[in-house]
Amino acid sequence: MKKQINIHWFRRDLRLTDNAALYHALRDGLPVLPVFIFDTNILHHLENKADARVEFIHTVITHMQAQLVEKGASLQVFHSTPAQAFQSLLAEYDIQNVYANEDFEVYALERDAAIAQLIKSANTPLLLFKDQVIMGKKEVVKDNGEPYTVFTPYSKKWKATLTPFHLKEYPNEKYFKNFLQQPPRAIPTLAELGFLPTGKRFPEQLIHKDIIKQYAKQRDIPGIGGTSRLGLHLRFGTLSIRLLVTVAAGLSEVYLSELIWRDFYQMILANFPQVGKGKAFKPAYDHIQWRNNEEEFTRWCNGVTGYPIVDAGIRELNQTGFMHNRVRMITASFLCKHLLVDWRWGEAYFAEKLLDYDLAANNGGWQWAAGSGCDAAPYFRIFNPYLQTEKFDHDRKYIRKWVPEFESPEYPAPIVEHKFARERCLKVYKEALNENRL
Ligand code: FAD
Repeated sequence: MKKQINIHWFRRDLRLTDNAALYHALRDGLPVLPVFIFDTNILHHLENKADARVEFIHTVITHMQAQLVEKGASLQVFHSTPAQAFQSLLAEYDIQNVYANEDFEVYALERDAAIAQLIKSANTPLLLFKDQVIMGKKEVVKDNGEPYTVFTPYSKKWKATLTPFHLKEYPNEKYFKNFLQQPPRAIPTLAELGFLPTGKRFPEQLIHKDIIKQYAKQRDIPGIGGTSRLGLHLRFGTLSIRLLVTVAAGLSEVYLSELIWRDFYQMILANFPQVGKGKAFKPAYDHIQWRNNEEEFTRWCNGVTGYPIVDAGIRELNQTGFMHNRVRMITASFLCKHLLVDWRWGEAYFAEKLLDYDLAANNGGWQWAAGSGCDAAPYFRIFNPYLQTEKFDHDRKYIRKWVPEFESPEYPAPIVEHKFARERCLKVYKEALNENRL
């Protein structure tokens, strides 16, 4: 007879503690089998076989396995499609419920719908829980029940809605004894997954209170390590958002506000899934006549545009998988507005390179920069890279670090003259928007 169990399916919630779906699974009573799938639908699309995110996940999974083995349990790790993994789980076990945490990314929604359908054939439901955000898809809405599309009123209502219940830690450890007891199962090595180690350093999963306290003053200066570097851990759930908000709320309103931006963009993606499928939030912006010059795009990707602040940002990204937020805004604006390259090209480039890549935030950031987003910078506000440098990298500390040759003759001349590019952009945007008024 097959063993009766519940499954917890880990995805972007890679931790044993304070994990909503895992908590509900463990409390349910039946032995819980923890499962992780190295999803070939995703991995096969990664062209770079030295992808630091795969390496990061692999490290985290290995660590989690060690924690589970101490409890007499084991992760069951697959390297397959989710459908293949669940077919094999259904063959091995009598699964009562599959528990998982919600994920609003486009592929995740399709994947979950397909798996829900597949396991339904065995009368097994897929039970989804809110875990990676504080406020769910429909939890903070306008008085008429519609989702917000502007950040400031959303943020006010978010704060008014917040109760201690939202931040309560799930005491998973109380029920750890309910993990299915079994000998350790093997985890595929990174090489078996077809990936290589990268040698990249991952930011620690520590909440540095001093950084958060100084955040309002330091966060805009890329030459200072003044931001928390927790994006990667929020992306993969190695850090609980509830814990971070609990710590941050008392220390910095400005930092809290950034975490609300994170919820905001997740909410936008959940309610307006078309933004994750390549559509401008404001449809008129899909009429812009992008220049899409491939050679210029390549120069932007290689950090040789002749604009030191732009090049510094891209080189930081290429070398470390991170780019400071202020510089993300400058480089993104530069690509869309100075070079008139479709924001989707830049979005895809960041998606490939960022360790903290998150569809909702990345799409939100790019559409903000292009002007097409829900609460975007007005299209006529075009960042001047020189003024941005004066303001935020006055001593050129950041530029010097990433573009040491910027004052030498080897450094290229600007790819386009600022004033000319600004006027060209205004003209092209105006044409698209005047002809296609909403
Ligand atoms: P901190 O400044 O310490 O902020 C703490 C956390 O708050 C971040 O880790 C992040 O989870 C959240 N946060 C901060 N700012 C934002 C924001 N504007 N929108 C949403 N969440 C925010 N963030 C991502 O997590 N993934 C992305 O793929 C991503 N792509 C971006 C692309 C562009 C063009 C722009 C302009 C911004 C993007 N951001 C993205 C938002 C922001 O730049 C990063 O979250 C931040 O730089 C990460 O560094 P940190 O962890 O030190 O952040």
